[in-house]
Amino acid sequence: MKPIHIIGGGLAGCEAAWQIAAQGVRAILHEMRPLRLTAAHKTGSLAELVCSNSFRSDDHEHNAVGLLHEEMRRLNSLIMRAANANQVPAGGALAVDRDGFAAAVTEAIGANPRIEVQRQEIAGLPPEDWDSVIVATGPLTSQPLAEAIGTFTGENALAFFDAIAPIIHRDSIDMTVAWFQSRYDKAGPGGSGIDYINCPLTRVQYEAFVDGLIAGDKTTFHDWEGTPYFDGCLPIEVMAERGRETLRHGPMKPFGLTNPHPGTSKPYAVVQLRQDNKLGTLFNMVGFQTKLKHGEQTRIFCTIPGLEQAEFARLGGLHRNTFLNSPKLLDATLRLKAMPRLRFAGQITGCEGYVESAAVGLMAGRFAAAERLGETAAPPPSTTAHGALLNHITGGHIERIDAGPPSYQPMNVNFGLFPPSDRALPLDENGKRLRGPAKALARKRALCQRALNDLAQWIGAARMAAE
Ligand SMILES: Cc1cc2nc3c(=O)[nH]c(=O)nc-3n(C[C@H](O)[C@H](O)[C@H](O)COP(=O)(O)OP(=O)(O)OC[C@H]3O[C@@H](n4cnc5c(N)ncnc54)[C@H](O)[C@@H]3O)c2cc1C
Repeated sequence: MKPIHIIGGGLAGCEAAWQIAAQGVRAILHEMRPLRLTAAHKTGSLAELVCSNSFRSDDHEHNAVGLLHEEMRRLNSLIMRAANANQVPAGGALAVDRDGFAAAVTEAIGANPRIEVQRQEIAGLPPEDWDSVIVATGPLTSQPLAEAIGTFTGENALAFFDAIAPIIHRDSIDMTVAWFQSRYDKAGPGGSGIDYINCPLTRVQYEAFVDGLIAGDKTTFHDWEGTPYFDGCLPIEVMAERGRETLRHGPMKPFGLTNPHPGTSKPYAVVQLRQDNKLGTLFNMVGFQTKLKHGEQTRIFCTIPGLEQAEFARLGGLHRNTFLNSPKLLDATLRLKAMPRLRFAGQITGCEGYVESAAVGLMAGRFAAAERLGETAAPPPSTTAHGALLNHITGGHIERIDAGPPSYQPMNVNFGLFPPSDRALPLDENGKRLRGPAKALARKRALCQRALNDLAQWIGAARMAAE
């Protein structure tokens, strides 16, 4: 049986290779690092995390990405296995020691007898005798391959800014001013309720900080001007420009946090830092992605109380993101309609995020393996987190694709992508209909339960098809 080729050993490519091997099919994984790095990757490890070390919420009963985690676990995901094994405390979020995580994935892939890793750049469309290929080269796909895909599809790859948040050495943070606490003391599955470092600002300090961000010297990329920012990952100074209170209702919100230091008053705004490595020596500034110049970052961020002497292990930055107009170009199992031997996976399909990229890799791997084995590759139901994401990528987006500016935009998994549930919600303890937050919570719970039930059926059906 011929192998399936995978280009790109990131989150999607590794998960795809793992899934293919698990179905008894051989895979060859082509990764250009360390021979050639991207603008954000720093190592030769497979599945390197280029920015935050968080896989976001791990709550599979009320949160769409938490549900995606749980579905992936049930689908034998390598990425989730490595994440679980390298978890660091982060309240209700699943965060990992990035080096340990990448090492675990690299080791598992290297030890799998059905997977061969070849360190090489694929600098154009793959050779014609590769009859089944998964392209998982990510938002920083190397230029020759991106150009070849762009030329073949006739589509202009879209580019927009993604942003990196600064990382600070823990021992340079002044803990006589800052304090440890998770918002609302939430412990979550992997945390303790005191996982974040919080830096308080008074109203006067907050106003001065906002002024500093707005006035600060920014990096400009004239080639990329006019590129839209992705709303879930706006640079901090862009948020500040949108309104003086925007940050206080976003990454600097003070709610659920109490300054324990004697003689202090309720903070007007709070900067949170999350543990970035297992040792607990590095902390990242949550939501502080930025395009401020490096000198400006140290100057302005050191005005935050508690960070006056901060030593930065890494400063924030900006990167390009390449993704396909997938609803137009890809079929229901992620194949390029115009060249079905090519499948796409990961962020290049227009999903957004580590977990989503890995989940799309998981599906692409299963589809490719089923095809190789002569089985029908049935997509997961759209009621599951995987199906909802796939639907968004391959056709869920209905707006004008052929006319006007391209409207397909990257998306994190969220309940807005799920079909609504028609099942009646439970009543409260007085037999009355739920209202407000209780109703919203019950609705999310119902969507999660439905997803996991439907996933179990899909897994069962796939198993029967294979037998
Ligand atoms: C700067 C930046 C910051 C980000 N921050 C976050 C974040 O904090 N949280 C989050 O959830 N998501 C973040 N993302 C988005 C995204 O989820 C990650 O980029 C994620 O790693 C995408 O997974 P992937 O497998 O699609 O691509 P990647 O993980 O990037 O893997 C692609 C791989 O393909 C290789 N490659 C590229 N071209 C070739 C070629 N021609 N031949 C061979 N190999 C090739 C690359 O070296 C790389 O290893 C960020 C993205 C960027 C660019």
